Amino acid sequence: MLMDNCIFCKISKKEIPSTIIYEDEEMLAFKDINPIDKVHFLIIPKEHIINLIECNSDHQDILSKMLLLAPKLAKESGLKGFRMMINSGKEGGQEVFHIHFHVYGGSEKLAKL
Ligand code: 5GP
Ligand code: ZN
Repeated sequence: MLMDNCIFCKISKKEIPSTIIYEDEEMLAFKDINPIDKVHFLIIPKEHIINLIECNSDHQDILSKMLLLAPKLAKESGLKGFRMMINSGKEGGQEVFHIHFHVYGGSEKLAKL
């Protein structure tokens, strides 16, 4: 289901431009507009899923595909290692309510954290 007022659904439908680094029938990965590291991209399902809190066993397949896409794209982006973040719910720092995996890295600082 695509949500009319959802920014990531709009990105998925190409109604809002983004720098897409991967796309298939089920998923999209694009660069974060406000990167927190040298490399920072987001992996989203094309289906409008709100967040991890709303997921159940029906979502196992898409979630595992998104997870396994992360190291592939990180490597293609030149990263030897990376960090993932999944802000879940308002209290978890989530601002866009369409599930997304942050994948980022590339700085010395991150490596030492
Ligand atoms: P959250 O806090 O929900 O986990 O993160 C949302 C992320 O989406 C933020 O890192 C923010 O920079 C990114 N973001 C918000 N709007 C846009 C947009 O229109 N385009 C892109 N590429 N990223 C966005
Ligand atoms: Zn959406």
